[in-house]
Amino acid sequence: MSFLIKNVTVVTLNSHREVIENGAVLIKKDRIEAVGDSSTLSAQCGDETEIINGHGQVVLPGFVSAHNHLGYAVFRGRAEDVGHAPTHRLYLPMSGVISNEERQVIGSLAVVELLRGGVTTVLEMEEDAELFAPFIEKSGIRALIGVMVNDLNLDALARGETVFDPAARELQLEKAVGLAQRWHGKSDHRIQAILAATGLSTSSPELLDSLRAFADELRLCISIHLGFGERDLVKRVHQAKQFEFARDHGVLGSDVVAVHCFEVDEAEIDILAETGTRLAHCPHMNQFRGEVAPVQRMREKGIQIGLGIDNYFSDYFEVLRSCLASARIHAHDPEVFSAYDALAFGTIDAARVLGLDDEIGSIEKGKKADLQMIDMATLGLTPVNDPVTTLVYHGHAKDVKTVFVDGNLVVREGVVQTADQADLIHRAGDAANNAWQKFRERHGAYAAPPPN
Ligand SMILES: [Zn+2]
Repeated sequence: MSFLIKNVTVVTLNSHREVIENGAVLIKKDRIEAVGDSSTLSAQCGDETEIINGHGQVVLPGFVSAHNHLGYAVFRGRAEDVGHAPTHRLYLPMSGVISNEERQVIGSLAVVELLRGGVTTVLEMEEDAELFAPFIEKSGIRALIGVMVNDLNLDALARGETVFDPAARELQLEKAVGLAQRWHGKSDHRIQAILAATGLSTSSPELLDSLRAFADELRLCISIHLGFGERDLVKRVHQAKQFEFARDHGVLGSDVVAVHCFEVDEAEIDILAETGTRLAHCPHMNQFRGEVAPVQRMREKGIQIGLGIDNYFSDYFEVLRSCLASARIHAHDPEVFSAYDALAFGTIDAARVLGLDDEIGSIEKGKKADLQMIDMATLGLTPVNDPVTTLVYHGHAKDVKTVFVDGNLVVREGVVQTADQADLIHRAGDAANNAWQKFRERHGAYAAPPPN
């Protein structure tokens, strides 16, 4: 299938940060065949090409979310004000009551929300990530998927103790490697596998060493939450400094996506930089936890940074704004980063963090056709003046009209084409209600008591 998107403003995100007025993008099969002037490209395309007249619209590369937990959409409206220890008060208790079918339908809704809002690539890591793989494949989104492992003994955890359990370790590694063997490279490499761990305090050194060995053997990248409030716990559990421990057990490096890193000092930033570790920065989520990563300092040190949505949320434009706002508040400086920098963090830079910048992240000839179109003739986006600044500060997921992934038209006129959107909203709502009813019966409230 071929498409010509014409009469549009093309924000390319190429290395010259080129923006083409009256531009056009020619898509052939899964790739971008040409980018340029609208009348020139119109003359080039054949009769079999579907023409999309994008007058008044802006074309951007699809957003790349370098960190998500799709099934955690179930916590929307219940987790945001819970404060510390959501893992103990919500995530672990919920995993004891929610069914696989409920998790699947809620995760599917999260995928549809991402596509609808212009997110074309997602890194999904979760305890049972493979549950979501079939719908990810069907939906058309590009994804890196990994089982998020830990090897805690859960009975000991309930008593407030950290005890590592070799049997749990073996089981989790089997799940993680099994997902990779079944899904890596599927749908013409639109789906890739990763290896993932929850964090350092929930992993034994043996677990981390094994992840590294499998990553090398299977040539997969690793993603792990780091520097996210674990410093004291890591010291207690492993008698080690967190980033040194991570480095010594193979979970820092140029094939590692570290998530969060808001709890870092200067020496730790140096370790990240020296090892070439990449950062998934989740400012929208973290600001509500009262945290912000020192991304300006990290960028000065040469660390590759891309944005991630993380839990509950789905509007990537909010993440762009949170990135700017939190960095400026952190620095007390209104000139830290520009709208263009934020957009780059969310597209080409995030693609680089995932090792996919040769294929996606910008609108350039030869790259995969992963892009979104936004109608600017709408309330909130007029006058446009500068398309990048206006979209970054004023755009919303609901303003996205058209989305392509891998050359496939997955959103048309604001409606996802690869799933029944209305049916999914209905079924996911019911599934969440059921799950929360079971949660409340078991725990007496919509959050378990805080840990001692
Ligand atoms: Zn996370």
